[in-house]
Amino acid sequence: MVKAVVGANWGDEGKGKITDMLAERADIIIRFQGGANAGHTIINDYGKFALHTLPSGVFYDHTTSIIGNGVALDIPVLFKEIQSIIDRGVPAPKILVSDRAQMVMSYHKNFDAYEEERLGGKSFGSTKSGIAPFYSDKYAKIGFQVSELFDEELLKEKVARIADQKNVMLEHLYHKPLIKPEELYHELMEYKEMVGPYVCDTSSYLHNALKEGKEILLEGQLGTLKDPDHGIYPMVTSSSTLAAYGAIGAGIPPYEIKKVITVCKAYSSAVGAGAFVSEIFGEEADELRRRGGDGGEFGATTGRPRRMGWFDCVASKYGCRLQGTTDVAFTVLDVLGYLDEIPVCVGYEIDGEVTTDFPVTHLLEKAKPVLAKLPGWKCDIRGIKTYEELPENCRKYVEFVEEQIGYPITMVSNGPGRDDIIYRG
Ligand code: GDP
Repeated sequence: MVKAVVGANWGDEGKGKITDMLAERADIIIRFQGGANAGHTIINDYGKFALHTLPSGVFYDHTTSIIGNGVALDIPVLFKEIQSIIDRGVPAPKILVSDRAQMVMSYHKNFDAYEEERLGGKSFGSTKSGIAPFYSDKYAKIGFQVSELFDEELLKEKVARIADQKNVMLEHLYHKPLIKPEELYHELMEYKEMVGPYVCDTSSYLHNALKEGKEILLEGQLGTLKDPDHGIYPMVTSSSTLAAYGAIGAGIPPYEIKKVITVCKAYSSAVGAGAFVSEIFGEEADELRRRGGDGGEFGATTGRPRRMGWFDCVASKYGCRLQGTTDVAFTVLDVLGYLDEIPVCVGYEIDGEVTTDFPVTHLLEKAKPVLAKLPGWKCDIRGIKTYEELPENCRKYVEFVEEQIGYPITMVSNGPGRDDIIYRG
């Protein structure tokens, strides 16, 4: 059976923790999209880790971790990450890398930085991990696929062709140092050496695993609102963040995805630019940011302070719908225990009309939040193991959100650890 763990919102919902938790009973965990531009924070028996490329199942020795074909594969980052977990006592994980994955090259990162520099104040807030230039090249059909590393003749010809093409931009648009084909070739040979032992026809591997009845998890990065089609375009990421894309980015049939576990955080946070209707500012935001997540809401990759807001039912209802949610995992609920009253965004007012349907970007920019206020529970709920033991106002908060978004909250996370989870229903 295949389950997908994906985000309903802007990312950072706590997918890493939920994946790590579910991985205990999984055989295979797959990253199917995105790159090293976002991080998952995981806390388990080995300590606290920020993973960017490795799937969140690498901490168990019974699991196989797969980097799917849909991923933007940053080989040096992958290898640094593998080494860093081994250095901290985690057994060497079993990793397979799709022969059809494409590689983030050093020039992709340079182009990312050069473009942000060129755009100045109008930049997209890129993490400069090369993700947008990488996916642009993939779809322009000038990317490097892992399989090509093993065809040196093809590679030599391609390196010269790509350098020619990239150098036009470097010279005339960005006025930056040019790419030397021999250096590019050398970079690729280094990557070949590093990735060689892990390369596999992963879709064929998964085909067999499915026949054998293995438990497979697809781990998404970011959330619905960062999807290039269904998100807040153009303030989106460059690969689809939807569970449906898991079939493509892993190379499995779509009908094999039987469960879609959509992770929603009990309040909102976002990074980068773009409309964020329920956003809060000043001391109110600082306090939530300080108390949020585990040790504050700061980017796992960049350390940037995240933008903060109240739970957004409009965005989350939409986010869950596009994912095809079967279960909602409602996370970080423990953080809200300090509030007397908890505001929740239940509608958007756009040009004087209130809607609960998430709009396209130019209307979203005009939306003002319609807030409801729920009574807080004013205590620490960490350590509670059953739903019935939660304070009444806390249960009311969960049930209010569930009613508004229209998808069943079957898991409530009340702490960052693996065991901080309450199952419902
Ligand atoms: P992801 O990208 O969706 O995996 O999310 P991140 O890892 O960026 O952000 C989630 C943060 O919240 C991490 O610091 C987690 O350790 C933390 N976290 C996850 N679930 C809970 C929870 O239920 N309670 C608390 N306090 N922290 C949580």
